[in-house]
Amino acid sequence: MPPLADYIWMNGEMTPWAEAKVHVMSHALHYGTSVFEGIRVYDTPDGPQGFRLTDHVRRLFDSARIYHFALPFTEDEVLDACKAIVRANGLKGAYLRPIAFLGECGMGVTPAKPQVDVTIAAFPWGAYLGDEALEKGMDACVSSWQRAAPNTVPTGAKAGGNYLSSYLIGREARVGGFGEGIGLGVDGRLSEGAGENLFIVREGRILTPSAASSILMGITRDTVLQLARDQGVEVVEQSLPREMLYLADEIFMTGTAAEITPVRSVDGIATRANGPGPVTKALNAAFRGLFTGDTPDRHGWLEPVYEG
Ligand code: PMP
Repeated sequence: MPPLADYIWMNGEMTPWAEAKVHVMSHALHYGTSVFEGIRVYDTPDGPQGFRLTDHVRRLFDSARIYHFALPFTEDEVLDACKAIVRANGLKGAYLRPIAFLGECGMGVTPAKPQVDVTIAAFPWGAYLGDEALEKGMDACVSSWQRAAPNTVPTGAKAGGNYLSSYLIGREARVGGFGEGIGLGVDGRLSEGAGENLFIVREGRILTPSAASSILMGITRDTVLQLARDQGVEVVEQSLPREMLYLADEIFMTGTAAEITPVRSVDGIATRANGPGPVTKALNAAFRGLFTGDTPDRHGWLEPVYEG
């Protein structure tokens, strides 16, 4: 893979991209023992701003906490390092990928001295599900793979191993010619996309699976819920049956990489809007407006990366 940027922050050092390597015997490679984040920096009229950077770093440490990983850096140090790597690469808009993982600490599944390595990459990254999907909506499907059952692997942690489920769901969808797959929980109720949270608009209300639906509590999900409330739109977090997908006026999926991606159809059944509907468009405009200055940042979500 050609370098996407000049440097990667690696255990406190700015390391040239090509030299930021780990050993093949790293624990995380064998057992999926990593926790990570995806964060976007937007180029705004007030300079490059990390979007909810502090919240992402907090979630990284929360994920680490669930797995008893002791990071050799504080939250503040990781926050500063996220800003520093953007500056070191001279980036204006960027996607950041901090990851904390068990490195070379022996082949046992539960090493006596788990050694945690921390790296942060920052590089330019466009629309995850494609520009066309952002504009016209994407065709999704319900996956034959279900999300992890409660009390198996915690979906509330953003951990490397969880992405085996995302890989199966996303791959099945793409092999079938769909843009993304939607996972059901083991109870057969709606959960989330392979790498996105799921929203349904019906009769003017926004519905989304609740925390009890084997989801990652997405930061974009929370952003959308707050923006909708700011617009006076009713939002409901609840357990939702699969058929709500087929009765939706509008559907969209959210994630740091995917941003707000409208869904045009699920399993070949078109939403009533058959593309981005008015509620999705209004939310997208409010979301985009945060980065153009058209939406006031009343929740303090933008954090300058070239200061401090
Ligand atoms: N669910 C899963 C499984 C994800 O991988 C992601 C992307 N991080 C999300 C939801 C959305 O989370 P966020 O909005 O915080 O990026």
